[in-house]
Formats: sequence, C-alpha cells, structure tokens
Amino acid sequence: MKLSLALLLLPAATTTAFTAPKFASTFRQSDDALLSSQATFSPSSSSSTLLQSTTVKDAAVEEVAAAPPATDGKTFGVVNTKNLSKLYDLVVIGGGPAGVAGAIKAAQMGRRAILIDKPKFDEGVLPSGLDLFFGGPTGLFSKALRDSAKNTNVEAMRAQQMDSDVIWKQITNSIVGLAMRNAEGQCRTLERYGIDYLQGSAQLLGEDDELNAAALNKFDDDLDSPEDGIRSVKVGKTYVVDDYVGSVNDAEVVVSGTKVLVCTGSKSTRLPGIPFDQSHRIFDSDTINLLGYLPRSVTISGLGIIGIEFANIFNALGVKDVNILVRGDVETSAKKLGMDMDVANELMRLLTESGVKVLEGTSVDEFSYVPPPSADEEYIQMKLNDGSTMETDLFFAATGRYPVGKNEETGLASAGVDIADRGMVNIDKTTLLTSSKNVYAAGDVIGPPALASTSMEQAQRAVSSMFSEKGETDAAQDANHDDPLSIGVWTIPEMGYFGSTKEQAERDGYTVVEGSVGFDQCLRGRVFAPDGLLKLVVDAESGTVLGVHIIGKEAAEMVHYGMALVKAKTTIFNGLSTVYTAVTFHELFKEAAMDANSKLDFGVEWQEIFDILQGQCDVDFDDEYLKEKFDAIDDDGSG
Ligand SMILES: Cc1cc2nc3c(=O)[nH]c(=O)nc-3n(C[C@H](O)[C@H](O)[C@H](O)COP(=O)(O)OP(=O)(O)OC[C@H]3O[C@@H](n4cnc5c(N)ncnc54)[C@H](O)[C@@H]3O)c2cc1C
Repeated sequence: MKLSLALLLLPAATTTAFTAPKFASTFRQSDDALLSSQATFSPSSSSSTLLQSTTVKDAAVEEVAAAPPATDGKTFGVVNTKNLSKLYDLVVIGGGPAGVAGAIKAAQMGRRAILIDKPKFDEGVLPSGLDLFFGGPTGLFSKALRDSAKNTNVEAMRAQQMDSDVIWKQITNSIVGLAMRNAEGQCRTLERYGIDYLQGSAQLLGEDDELNAAALNKFDDDLDSPEDGIRSVKVGKTYVVDDYVGSVNDAEVVVSGTKVLVCTGSKSTRLPGIPFDQSHRIFDSDTINLLGYLPRSVTISGLGIIGIEFANIFNALGVKDVNILVRGDVETSAKKLGMDMDVANELMRLLTESGVKVLEGTSVDEFSYVPPPSADEEYIQMKLNDGSTMETDLFFAATGRYPVGKNEETGLASAGVDIADRGMVNIDKTTLLTSSKNVYAAGDVIGPPALASTSMEQAQRAVSSMFSEKGETDAAQDANHDDPLSIGVWTIPEMGYFGSTKEQAERDGYTVVEGSVGFDQCLRGRVFAPDGLLKLVVDAESGTVLGVHIIGKEAAEMVHYGMALVKAKTTIFNGLSTVYTAVTFHELFKEAAMDANSKLDFGVEWQEIFDILQGQCDVDFDDEYLKEKFDAIDDDGSG
C-alpha cells in the first residue's frame, strides 16, 4: 500500500466547547428532536492540524473508503481528504448566491468544483453542520421575517394575553423553518452536481507561496503546461474526514484548483459613534439577522432599501413606534435608488398612514444612555441633531455595506489581487478576471449593484469565461455588465421598477409622457389590494415604453413583464390592442397605456389613420411627413 499523508500537527490541542445554536430554543418539535439527538457531538480529534498533500493511490485504500469514517453526525460541509488531495478545476470561496451559482455553472460545464464557505454566523450552524444561512442571500432573513410578519397576527396574539417572548418564538420558528429548507435544498443541489462543500475560512495564497509552488509541482501531470499555473487556498477552522486518521476538527488544509472564484460578499458599514458593542439592542444589517426579541419600539437610521424594508416589517409585526431618521430628505434618497417620485410619494403615504414616521434632516448626535444587557425594561436614550431627545428599544443602523475584499482573512491583497478603496475587488468587466492570474471575482465583493440577482449572473459569466473553449458560445457570456436591472424592493406592498424615470428619459433627449393608474383601477386591485400605482414612462414621439414603475401587490413579479415591454421596445399601441386576462393585475398595463395615450398629440387614433393610409396607398408614407401635413391643416389644434 502506498500512502503518503503529510500530517503536520501544530502545537497544543484546543477544543472549542460545543454550544447549541441560539436558534435552538426557537425550534419546532421535530427540530428539537433533531437537535437533542445531535447535542452529544464531540469531535474525535480536536487538534489544530495542517493536512496537506494526501496522495491516495492504492486499491486497498479504496476498500477503506468503502467504510466511510465516522463524522460524529456532521453531514454538511465536510469533505474527505482523499477528494481534497486531487486538483480541482474550480475552487470557489464564499457560499452566498454568487458562490453557489458559480460552482453549479462549473459542474454544468463538466468541471470538478469545490465550494469553501465560512458560515456567516456561528449561531446559525446546527450540529449536523447545516448552516441555516448557507446559499441564501444576506437579505434572506428580512424576506423570511417579512413573510412571517404578513402571516402572523401579532395584535390577535397579544389580545390572547401571549407575551412578546412567546410571539417572537412563533415568528422565529417559521423563519428557521424557511432558512432550513433553503439551506438543505442548496446542499442537496451541490451534492447532486458532485460539488464538494467544505465549511471553513479560506485564504488565497500567492502564486509564489511555497505551498502553491509545492502544489504546482505535485499536479504537474494534470496541467497541459506548467505555465498555465494553479492557485491554492489555505482553509482554516475546518472539519474534514480522513480514511486513516478519522475526523479532524479545527483542521487546516490546502486546496488547489486551476481557477479560483472569489465570492466573499459584503459586510455592513459601522459608522463611528454608534456603540454596537455595548448593547445587544443596537444592530447593523448583518447582526439584525440574529435579532432575538420582539421590540417595543424601533429607530432606523438610513432611508435605503434595507431601512425601508425593515421599517415596514416591524410595522407589520405590530411595533407601534417605528421611526426612520434620514440625514437628508426623502426626494434625494429616493432618486439615489433610481425610484420614480410618484412611486416614492405613494410609499411615503402608505408608510405614514401605517404609523411609520420618517424624520428628514435628522440624525443621532449622541447615544446618551445604553442600558446594560440585564436592564431589558429600559430604553436606549439618544440626543438628536436638533437638540431633542428620543428613546428606542431597538436601534438599527442601515447605513450601507462594503465589499469583503481587503481583510487579512481572505488574503486577496497579499496574493496579488488588485483591490480598490473600501475593499472592492477590481475586475475585467467582461471576463470578471482579477489582476491576479487565474483568480476571478463575482457578487457583492466586486461592488455595485450588489444584488443577489446580479451576483449570481456575474458568477455564471465568470465561470463561463474561464472554461468556454475558443469559438464556443455560451449565453452567460453575452450578458452585459452595464445592462439596466429590474429592481424589487420588499416593502409592504412591494415595489418593482425597470428602465427610465421621466427625468432620466428627458436627460437622454426624449420628450416624455407618463401613463399612471392606481391599483384600484383594475378589478383585482379594487377588490383585493387597492393600495399602489403603476406608471409607464413613454416616448411621446413613438409611443415606446421606456420605463415601468410599480408599487403594489405583486409589483416585484409584474416588473418582469414591464421589463420585457421596455427591452422589446414595445409601444403603448401594442398594449392597447392586447387582451389581458380578466381579474389580473396585468390589466393595469392596459389602463396605464390608455392614460399615456390620452396625453399624446399623435395617439392611438393617429396610429389608426396612419395604418389606413399606409394600407390604401402604394406610396410608403413617412410618419413624420404625415404628422407635418396634418399639423398644417389642423390650424386650430383641435385634432
Ligand atoms: C437586509 C438585506 C436585504 C437585501 N435584499 C435584497 C433583495 O431584495 N434583492 C436582492 O437582489 N438583493 C438583496 N440584498 C443583497 C443580497 O443579499 C446580496 O447582494 C447577496 O447576498 C450577495 O451575494 P454574494 O454571494 O456576493 O455574497 P454573500 O451573500 O455576502 O455571501 C458571501 C459568503 O462568503 C463567505 N465568506 C466571506 N469570506 C470568506 C472566507 N475568507 N472564506 C470562506 N468564506 C468566506 C461569507 O461568510 C458568506 O457566506 C439584500 C441584502 C441585505 C443585507
């Protein structure tokens, strides 16, 4: 038997005591059973270990592998060293939407891939290794909380004398259930594609690092040419199984691939002066995922998408006092988000009507009192910039996010990856290749727009450009990095928009009319969901739809139809001649087209005349020529 296992034991065995996840107390019956059955987890080896260059070549070894080593009940995020010892085509760092999409794309292209992910929160990892946040967007918690806010009648529960802890437990049960289904589903998908998923913290090594040089030597035969190079990643705090050593906790391993895709995401920006570390009731857009109580009052700083979403959610959860503090004004914030002002005003109307206060020109000057963890009845006291005071049970700083490119843990900068200010990884916009050989990046780590949808598309495009043969076409490669995006905002009711606002279209040289209708102008809206509006921004010359802006029920779904209209350069005249299924929200598109048509000088009636003339004469009339002639005889402008 020929087995070379270079096992380098680093000093002093350190065992981290196992603590059940914070979420454990919120589990339903069946999950409780799952937890208690695994609560006896104890790693069979807890040494801090560097496992590398495991070469397994013998038939006898295969026999050993037939009886897999025990994993102490840990079934997710564990990889056998035998797998790790072979060269991968792709090593993905980061298991958010981008990383998962990239790894799957590689497998679909017939490549061998591994995904290495450090759980976002230790509290989210179950004894089975299932990371509740794995494969989900950072915003997964807010979507799940929104869903349970919509489905939980907190008022009714309070009326039945249920206390806040019981209500909150019910809410988190449903969130954990949703997160579990998502994480398990993602793990199973990776498994189906034969992708290894290793939990741990990955550090990219430089090309000339001695471990990478050793790996290049070792995998020489696997490469067409040594000049192609390989890249290695050191993975720490990981748990692996080895056919001979058994399971090894807190191990360090080196994994190599011909390409690396960096998808390390983003983190919330923490502005100075906010005492995050002094209180478990002051949150940022990461730590809010670990919210453990139903607050009595909420203050949110920032009127970005995340701030607005959470204001709505807390309001729907029956929190009476929800305030949003905006340093500037609503209009500036809305325009920064590319929002149409009528939609923004409708949102503000609905927020105010539901009791949320939006305080413009307001910021916190000082946190004058932060209650200690034991004083749950007390409130956080704040001094505002106008000298007044405010108290709150929960403070949420939704003041932006920064890409995770610069920190030491990822090792990107020292491995030769060019990184801009604030940690954004610089990439070639077409291939998503970084400045460092064979290293690509996608998702939040490459900066705006930093959305789950764009992150996935970028990762697929990067992998496609890595592995497509010369001359081979792949739809993923054709996507344009600068294409406009459809935006969904998960307020209640939700928003969706695509294309130009009136202002943007006018800046682009169009003369514009808008067709705008309230949700109550279609039967479905009138009966079931009257709040909201749908607006079409239309080129007054041609009737082409340039932008679609919606707030109301199903807006984030309907915007895709709007996007198709804009992309296909559809005119409102097409819309007017389309029969939409009755009692659907899509009927609003026709109503909005009618409204826009009524504002056109040359509307649908003109189109009919134009069609008749074209049909009856052999001459090919030009639209502009006919309009000019018509204007000449229509001297009183009556049409
Ligand atoms: C509250 C909120 C609401 C949102 N709502 C929406 C929305 O409605 N629509 C939308 O499209 N987007 C939304 N987003 C944005 C969306 O969540 C992100 O764009 C998306 O998660 C980015 O995916 P990613 O894969 O690039 O990074 P992430 O999801 O951040 O994943 C990165 C992963 O890499 C891991 N990692 C980091 N460093 C290492 C390392 N050294 N080794 C191993 N692993 C590492 C991290 O732990 C993490 O698991 C929202 C975000 C927030 C915060």
